[in-house]
This record gives sequence, C-alpha cells and structure tokens, in this order.
Amino acid sequence: MTPFTYTTPESIDEAVDKKASDTRAKFIAGGTNILDLMKVNVERPDQLIDIKDLPENTITENEEGGLRLGALVTNADTAYNNLVEQRYPLLSMAILAGASAQLRNMATDGGNLMQRTRCYYFYDVATPCNKREPGSGCSAIHGFNRIHAILGASDKCIATHPSDMCVALAALDATVNVTGKAGQRSIPFGEFHRLPGETPHVDNTLQPDEIITSIDLPAKGFPTHYYYLKLRDRKSYAFALVSVAAALEVEGDIIKEARIALGGVAHKPWRNTEAEALLQGKQAVRENFKQAADIIVAGAAGYKYNSFKIELAKRAIVRALEEAFAHSIA
Ligand code: SF4
Repeated sequence: MTPFTYTTPESIDEAVDKKASDTRAKFIAGGTNILDLMKVNVERPDQLIDIKDLPENTITENEEGGLRLGALVTNADTAYNNLVEQRYPLLSMAILAGASAQLRNMATDGGNLMQRTRCYYFYDVATPCNKREPGSGCSAIHGFNRIHAILGASDKCIATHPSDMCVALAALDATVNVTGKAGQRSIPFGEFHRLPGETPHVDNTLQPDEIITSIDLPAKGFPTHYYYLKLRDRKSYAFALVSVAAALEVEGDIIKEARIALGGVAHKPWRNTEAEALLQGKQAVRENFKQAADIIVAGAAGYKYNSFKIELAKRAIVRALEEAFAHSIA
C-alpha cells in the first residue's frame, strides 16, 4: 500500500472541492471495496476523503411520492427500513441477497453503486487488464472467464458489475442525484453505469469531481408482485453468476406492467424494455415469460467458460417472473 493522506470534510461542497483539486484522491465511506483494492495496489490514492460522517444518511419521502435514499445510508439500514420494506420490497430482497451481514452494516448505498468489478484479473496486478491499466489487454477474454459477461461486452473488457442492489434499482427506474463543481444533476439509473466499449476503465458517467448525494425511488414500487433471484456457486456470500430482479403489476392474470433487470451478465445492470413491453397486456404464463427471456438473451455471446450462463439466464428470467407473479402479498 502506498502512503496517503486522510481528510474529513464537513460538507458535500468541501468534499467536492477536495476531490476537484486532487485527481488522485478517492472518497471513502464504508470502505468495503476501496480498502480491498488498496491492499492489492489496484487503487493507489494519495488522499482518502472520508465522507461517512456527512449528513446524507437519512431515508425521506421525496416530492414525487417516492423515497430518497441518502448516499450514506448503509445497505442494512436501507433493506430493513419500514418504508422500503413496505413500498419497495424488491429492493430489500436484492440488498439482502448481497455480501454478508457485516458488509451490509458497513457498505453505503452510494458506495454500492461505485463498487468495482470482481474480475479476478482486475485484482491481480501481475496480469494485463484494460480496466486497471488501459491498453494493457484483457486477460479474461482468453483466460478463466466463468463469471464474465454474456451481454454488452467489448473486445477490450468482458467484466460484470457485481452489485445486487443496483439490479433492483435498475428495475425500479431509480435516479442518482450527484453534486460537483458545476452544481447538482440527476442521472437516470440506466445511464449511470456504462458498457465497456473502448474505455473499460470508466465504470460510470460520474465526473471526477462529482459525488453521489442520494438515490431517488419513484412512487411506483411494485410492492405486491416482485422477486429477486440470485444464482451463484454457493448459497451465501458469493457474487451472482446470474441474477434477475422481476416486478409485475397485474390485474387478475393479465400483466399491466413488467420490469426485468439482470445482474452478473454485463458491465452494468441489464434491462431490456422491449421484453418488458412484450409482456404488457399478456397473460402471466410461462410461455409469455419464455418469449420475454428469448428477447433479453437474443444478443448474448459466451466465452470458453461462461456460455452456460446464456441458458441459465433464460431459465432464471422465467423463474423470477413466475415467482414474482406467485409471490403476492396483495
Ligand atoms: Fe480487466 Fe475487464 Fe478483462 Fe477483467 S474483463 S481482465 S476487468 S479488462
């Protein structure tokens, strides 16, 4: 680990000023990913700006009838918040599928969005990795790529985004609120994380001087028909091979609205609105769920060790939608 200074700003504006004036500075809150990355020399900040004591740590009702999750609320406090449990149970279910209780007690909601891929090669500084060192190559494409992407990858990077929480936030159409030197702005969740393309070292659309202040959940939370299905190599404390956040609004057995987002399959939570539109007005039956799954995986491509994920994703989508339909608390 290289030496670094440690600072504790007293406001968001001060945090932004510190970040803007030091290109090698990093924010730290729960520290559940940045510290791992520093220990293996993947991240080598010259300054850690500790934001965990800033006041963005509450969950409040927003002006649109939804909820605003402060960026510094922990994942555990979010999952067990009464309003989240009642109105956005899909989000609680997804958060509780992730990490361990200890990590969820430390990790913050803003930090969850900022966590980096768990590609083995990204963490191994002895191997080439375009995400860690642009232009050095991708060790995973011809390496052991069991956990890697089947959708939206590029010839520069086939990494996946590791979050469970973000898959639910994508399905729920959340918005990310950020502040930087140019002021505040809001980023639709689907535009926050990016695909690797030619620049896999850039994970998201946040500017270097910007900080996440909160995440807005819209009024519609799909509280009666929802399911988060996470498939992984062991039952707990493992990242998803494939996960599916499914939410339905139904009248009888007719689907009024469907939301489907996938985790573990791409560089960002993967949502396909074409498949969601196909289900609108249709019966909530396996045959229609299969058609939606076919649309979602239509462009999927596997590598030597992860092609199994294509069929796994199809089956997971169907199962998650069936569970969501059956999982009624109306
Ligand atoms: Fe690096 Fe991406 Fe290749 Fe993994 S998949 S080695 S993160 S470039």
